[in-house]
Amino acid sequence: MSGTIHGRCLCGDVTIALSRWTPEISACHCANCRRAGGGLMAGFDAPADAVTVTGEVRRFRAVDFAERAFCPRCGANLWLRDDGGDYELSPALFDDAATFPLVREVYADCAMRFATLAGDHPRIERTEYESQNPHVEASQ
Ligand SMILES: [Zn+2]
Ligand SMILES: [Zn+2]
Repeated sequence: MSGTIHGRCLCGDVTIALSRWTPEISACHCANCRRAGGGLMAGFDAPADAVTVTGEVRRFRAVDFAERAFCPRCGANLWLRDDGGDYELSPALFDDAATFPLVREVYADCAMRFATLAGDHPRIERTEYESQNPHVEASQ
């Protein structure tokens, strides 16, 4: 999709504008996402050149190939980004993301019991995901 959608963190110090994005949500239940996100993380993609960020952002390298970003004041999760890759943005920052469908879960077999998500989207298990993304395995 293109146009402009706007997002912000909980305290409003960080704002994010997107000029292009993919209106589809992926959820991840890997160990890092569980710990960072209160049980799971969800995201939707936008290419780097379509993302405009204002405000101070803190970055954390949870794994050696990606960063997580958050607001240093309120702690809201902003994005996960593989080095040089698209942004995987937190849907909760964007009012427009409220209607984006969930299209896949990864590490579905690692989900905490409360974090079972309804729907008939693909559920990719850890073994399958890591065989398709060999750079991930060592960091889990
Ligand atoms: Zn904030
Ligand atoms: Zn994950």
